[in-house]
Amino acid sequence: MTSTTAFWLAGRQVTGEDSFDVTSPWDGRVVGKVSVPSDAQIEEAVAAAYAVRDEFAATPAHVRAAALDHVSRRLVERTEEIAQLISAENGKPIKWARGEVGRAVSVFRFAAEEARRFNGGEAQRLDTDLGGQGRLALTRRFPKGVVLGIAPFNFPLNLCAHKIAPAIAAGAPIILKPAPATPLSGLIIGDLLAETELPAGSWSILPVPNDRMPALVQDERLPVISFTGSEKVGYAIMDSVPRKHCTLELGGNGAAVVLGDYASDADLDWAATRIATFSNYQGGQSCISVQRVIADASVYDRLLPRIVAAVEAQVTGDPSDDKTDVGPLVSEDAAKRVEAWVKEAVEAGANLLAGGSRDGASYAPTVLTDVPADTTISCEEVFGPVLTVTKADGEDAAFAAVNDSKYGLQAGVFTHDLQAAFRAHRALEVGGVVIGDVPSYRADQMPYGGAKQSGVGREGVKFAMDDYTYERVLVLTGL
Ligand code: NAD
Repeated sequence: MTSTTAFWLAGRQVTGEDSFDVTSPWDGRVVGKVSVPSDAQIEEAVAAAYAVRDEFAATPAHVRAAALDHVSRRLVERTEEIAQLISAENGKPIKWARGEVGRAVSVFRFAAEEARRFNGGEAQRLDTDLGGQGRLALTRRFPKGVVLGIAPFNFPLNLCAHKIAPAIAAGAPIILKPAPATPLSGLIIGDLLAETELPAGSWSILPVPNDRMPALVQDERLPVISFTGSEKVGYAIMDSVPRKHCTLELGGNGAAVVLGDYASDADLDWAATRIATFSNYQGGQSCISVQRVIADASVYDRLLPRIVAAVEAQVTGDPSDDKTDVGPLVSEDAAKRVEAWVKEAVEAGANLLAGGSRDGASYAPTVLTDVPADTTISCEEVFGPVLTVTKADGEDAAFAAVNDSKYGLQAGVFTHDLQAAFRAHRALEVGGVVIGDVPSYRADQMPYGGAKQSGVGREGVKFAMDDYTYERVLVLTGL
């Protein structure tokens, strides 16, 4: 019998009256049973976080940094066990799950480093204008209050790390809510935090069911909401609490542009391999996976067969197998949705060059060309292993095609031309432009987030800390 995993309430491991099963999308087996907090337990966590906020903000940086370093080290020690857990509950191929643990190790380490550097303060002379003689302004950042962090299923450990580590680094208490399909990977962070000396109440990890989230979202003791997930849920949250500070990390339909100068065999092999890998990693369930390839007409005919061959070479199957590149999607319903979108595109005239089949929750890596612009797959985030390839006549047309989207998370541009790189940086309406690689590159310390409907605000450890805090000026007079 599967034992029930407790949740973390104000730093203590607690069970509630109800529980739910977490199942593997690969074979449907029960991976774990997770206890659900009652309304009274949620209230206890919020009240504890609210009560400890001044104490936590005043906790010395070295104490918070040591706790973050500890979590980072323990993640290293428990990498294999945690990677197996991610793979089991999410269906992520084990090699990518190991990579995810590695990224979370870095996130906690970066947060420890930032905790030591943050809030050094800034002095500004005020005697540069009338009335400022003898005055000095000192600026420091203070937490806005308790953070409500809401995480998605697709990076169940690392995106929880991106909520909780910056909060601790900034001295802001946090209530973290992992995704219902993948709560175990988020809850394991509690195992490691419980080994530290952080004040009770400064962190809770609560697998609150979706239908009870609106009350938590509305709670006035939680002034900051850091949400990563779908556009639909994210904007509904922001619209429901217009006076709160909301960071929204939402969806995308990442584009990779291959410009005309990227034309040698080696260039095209690299571009095709990277595109095939990163349209399919996580089964395409990454907000920055490659969904659209826009190739200059001069390289299109040589690039396309390479992409098709590289996509067909992706090894699909059991996520626990070291050789697997592409596992199942998060659920059979998700795979059925992708299947329906591909069918709609093909019926509207698209050419299917690879994939296009479903087996349970698994969807075969798929390549489409000539996809009509008004199909769902052209307009929405597919969040599956599907790639569309289109031809563009020159750089301006390629950049315009990237921008012809309601989303704007990241874009990749394969070029060697430095001037073109700067033109891309200026022209593309996205949160990040990656030159020489796919849009899927993310370093966890860099600012990360969307333009347009891909979101509001930035993550990346230091940038999340900025988000969780505000500047307070101290004006000194009579100096
Ligand atoms: P989702 O929106 O369904 O769920 C995200 C989280 O919101 C979950 O924890 C869920 O339980 C919670 N939630 C659901 N209803 C809620 C409500 N009414 N109030 C408060 N919380 C609620 O998203 P998902 O399917 O878990 O994740 C996939 C989406 O996340 C994709 O669109 C993907 O692009 C996006 N994503 C974005 C980034 C980024 O950094 N921009 C990173 C990863 C994933």
